[in-house]
Amino acid sequence: MTETSSNSTNIAENLTQIQLNISKFCQKYQRDPQDIKLLAVSKTRPTKDIRLAYSAGQTQFGENYLQESLQKIHDLSDLAIEWHFIGAIQSNKTRELAENFAWVHSIDRLKIARRLSNQRTKSLPPLNICLQINISEEKSKSGFNINEVEVAVDEVIHLPNLRLRGLMAIPAKADSLEEQRATFAEMKSLLKTLQTKYPQIDTLSMGMTGDMEAAIAEGSTMLRIGTAIFGARNLSGL
Ligand SMILES: *Cc1c(COP(=O)(O)O)cnc(C)c1O
Repeated sequence: MTETSSNSTNIAENLTQIQLNISKFCQKYQRDPQDIKLLAVSKTRPTKDIRLAYSAGQTQFGENYLQESLQKIHDLSDLAIEWHFIGAIQSNKTRELAENFAWVHSIDRLKIARRLSNQRTKSLPPLNICLQINISEEKSKSGFNINEVEVAVDEVIHLPNLRLRGLMAIPAKADSLEEQRATFAEMKSLLKTLQTKYPQIDTLSMGMTGDMEAAIAEGSTMLRIGTAIFGARNLSGL
């Protein structure tokens, strides 16, 4: 019991601290804090921690692993959580995504968007999606290359049962604020280009625990934060 209450304090305090940091960086970079949503990345965390964050006012959660997330969605169905999928997508698993999530950020090929469009439950609102951009052009990472994005958007924007919200990126690790900003600035400019044709596109999903300031400086509208809320994850490399 004591363990639960100390965790509870930590997670609630961490969320408060992050909101303070968001406000501080918004002031520094002349952003409106209302334009930045906080997605709590809860992969590998027990449902108990998600309940604690929810009690502290956090309602949007991001998950990476399908089986784990379906179990959590089931176990937490008494809470009004908005679930976001941010992990790698296997094309034979799209139906579960289409039936259980409000958002999918990690669409890295057209085939996935087409399948989600066909499989989205008709009684649910359109599935919000972002196209993942391989912004650092790493061979090991998935995502559209910058020069493929416009053509992909021209198709995806017309797919029924989906609502294209914007772009997502996981940049290569960079240590300085300047390097981090340079990469996120490319995302910002790409979004701007798309918005001239499709003004309804409104989302830049970027910024994690280690590059939150750079992401806010360059126009992020959705931060995906795990470690700073829940503490360090056990499994290395996740
Ligand atoms: C794990 C993960 C995050 C959160 O990373 P932290 O460094 O723990 O804040 C954000 N986005 C994606 C896609 C992730 O896989």
